[in-house]
Amino acid sequence: MTAYSELQRTDARTALRDRVFVAVSADDAIGTAASIAATPNSGLVIVDKVASRLIRPLKTIYPSSLTIATDPATYMHYRATIDRPMDLPRILDSPEMSLNEYMDAQLASGQDIAFMPAGRVRDHDVLKAIVGSANDVAAPNVVLPVALPGRLLKARYVAETVATLAESRHQVALVVTGQFDPFKDPDVSEGLRGVAEAREIFLHRTDFAAFEAIAHGGLGGSIGWCTRLRHAVPGFKPAETRKDPPDRSPVVLVPEIDSLRHTAVIEPWFRNTAPPLCVTPGCCGRNLAWLRDKPADHADACTHNVRNWMPVAETLLAQPPSYRAHWLHNYRIDVDLNYAALRRRTGVMTIEMDDSQATWLSLGR
Ligand SMILES: [Zn+2]
Repeated sequence: MTAYSELQRTDARTALRDRVFVAVSADDAIGTAASIAATPNSGLVIVDKVASRLIRPLKTIYPSSLTIATDPATYMHYRATIDRPMDLPRILDSPEMSLNEYMDAQLASGQDIAFMPAGRVRDHDVLKAIVGSANDVAAPNVVLPVALPGRLLKARYVAETVATLAESRHQVALVVTGQFDPFKDPDVSEGLRGVAEAREIFLHRTDFAAFEAIAHGGLGGSIGWCTRLRHAVPGFKPAETRKDPPDRSPVVLVPEIDSLRHTAVIEPWFRNTAPPLCVTPGCCGRNLAWLRDKPADHADACTHNVRNWMPVAETLLAQPPSYRAHWLHNYRIDVDLNYAALRRRTGVMTIEMDDSQATWLSLGR
């Protein structure tokens, strides 16, 4: 029985291992995302209730080179309880579908991996209930998404979080929820490293934190195509913004500082110096400070962003696992030096490293 369980667990793990997926929704440019993600080091996680109808067309274009996972993102609207950890559909007044039936129906669409409809977690008792419920699923290629607040990764709670996740026979995709950047807090960042080292988690719906998870023993991760999928702010309240009115300019990856910034923020940096032209081979060639709040520029920004983090992911994954933390730390030292060079070049002394990047750097390797 043990061998059978291990074998079952291997399938999703094999499909996710050593990959940084692009998380997309049905509203995004999925065709473009697929064309970039159809590589041995990437794939798509389609985060959407209506993901199933998108799978067959993608599998027709990319029969084997594109790994596709689907995530109904139930945790965004449903808070798990001990009695009802998963949000399973019920048709009219018939009994609720079983989790096995639900997963079989999901997987009938032809994706490689399907995430379960787990609600979000507030405490360890609910986490135990979710893991227990998921363990009843027989399908080999399923993933348990565990959406929890950063608090449960803090030193006080992380040992119990790890112990509970160890009970899962299925691969866990961790989604760290909360406003703004949860990894700004060194206690949360340390906790993430600890969980990645102990449980080989997949870090889902994030930004460069995916690299951090992989460098510290995690299986893989996903980075959002758009801002909405790089953070998980559950519930019905919209994500807060620091600005009022909110900054609607495109969010663009500035490659030299490995940072995702609103173009309205970076535009003033380059008023007295050469414009930041994209020089990445095969990318947009655009002046990154001049993307505006219009659909074509938002689309260009999303494509540019993935094209520019993908080579970093590939280089990280090309390192032997035991060297990845060292490699990533050295990479961040270079990024820090690039910030200093950018301040000198622009004369803008207030340009600072992203909060979470600074936290990871300060923690060392
Ligand atoms: Zn570009």
